[in-house]
Amino acid sequence: MISADDARSYVLAGLSPLAPLEHPLAASIGLVAASTVTAREPAPSFVNSAMDGFALRAGDVTSSDTRLRIVDSVFAGESSTVVVGRGEATRIMTGAPLPPGADSVCPREDATVEADGHVVIQRTVTIGDSVRHVGEDITVGQTLVEPGDVITPALLGALAAQGLTSLSAHPVPRVGVLSTGNELVESGPLRAGQIRDSNRPTLLAALARSGFSPVDLGTVRDAKEDLRVAFETARATCNAVISTGGVSAGDADFVKVVLAELFGEATRSMQVAIRPGKPFTFALDVASATPFFGLAGNPVSTLVGFELFVRPALRRLAGQRDIDRPIIPMVLDCDLVRQPDGKLHLVHGVCRVHDDGRLHVESLAKRGSHLLFAIAQSNCLVMAPDGPSLAAGQIVRALVLDDNHLNAV
Ligand code: AMP
Ligand code: MG
Repeated sequence: MISADDARSYVLAGLSPLAPLEHPLAASIGLVAASTVTAREPAPSFVNSAMDGFALRAGDVTSSDTRLRIVDSVFAGESSTVVVGRGEATRIMTGAPLPPGADSVCPREDATVEADGHVVIQRTVTIGDSVRHVGEDITVGQTLVEPGDVITPALLGALAAQGLTSLSAHPVPRVGVLSTGNELVESGPLRAGQIRDSNRPTLLAALARSGFSPVDLGTVRDAKEDLRVAFETARATCNAVISTGGVSAGDADFVKVVLAELFGEATRSMQVAIRPGKPFTFALDVASATPFFGLAGNPVSTLVGFELFVRPALRRLAGQRDIDRPIIPMVLDCDLVRQPDGKLHLVHGVCRVHDDGRLHVESLAKRGSHLLFAIAQSNCLVMAPDGPSLAAGQIVRALVLDDNHLNAV
């Protein structure tokens, strides 16, 4: 057996980010930038009002009932050329440029307009009050994006405000998913011994949830030639391929055999010291740099393998610097029964933030690599290192998979 860490390092060693492409800015949310972007314009680009109110000269406002004559009015999107002289004010709306002569703004709620075209300013004002300055957020030449930065909504907006319409970023990996097994049926009634495929829909959904582009490659029978054709086709259309089933010790477990035939030395069938998900085959098509992940067929094992090996690898392809889910220490709120067996146990659970400000986790009642529905409401994966059972109150480390249920109820 090899450790989960070693298996993961083995997978990651051969992988690097997909070649960057120019993407429309509007479609770049969540992508990882591949080159530097510097600011062409300052933000704000002109001095403007932070409030609806009156633009004035702070020096005129000596008491908290200064009377000023209103000389103009300026809306966002306009500009006023009327100079604000001594004893004068201009009505101004948020975002409108400060008129010449004015150096500050008094908010509308601190002023009373009189019938004769005057306004009484009912507070003292300091120069610069309620005024937004040029370059406060961004100065010209400032680095806005560095390679490896993730495009967030705020960053996308800031770049759009610079007039940028496209940027160089790593593409979203296209990830093919195929299920193997003669017992799987696509539709119609089940005959004795047959089941419906759950791994493929689960993985396609998990991929979408993690921001990758899922490609449904269907089901494949436990026949070497069928598998070979399926993998060859997948290699031509996808950046990565996940198959489930056919990697353990059964007489019809041909996935590992076919991958080894196709990719030779670059294929490794491992017995990873984890439970569930021990059998795992990884292959790399060196010519196209396409990784193949042969995950164990049991549905919970499939998801564990996805989290431990596939998702970090796909994030590496996507150019992400931070490829891991958060791993957070939590208070175990129940006993976690296990035997020493040389393996890291991965136990689905539900974690929540409690009144003590810490995360608390409860494992789910039923555990078994075939019990998919039993983990449907889990939001974390407790990592119980080899050893005896863990007792309630102990601190455990867990991978946070989802923000469902995280808030205390
Ligand atoms: P295998 O790894 O092919 O030996 O499969 C292990 C177990 O997982 C068997 O009980 C299979 O029937 C089951 N299994 C394999 N593939 C799937 C699938 N796509 N959906 C649901 N169960 C599966
Ligand atoms: Mg099988």
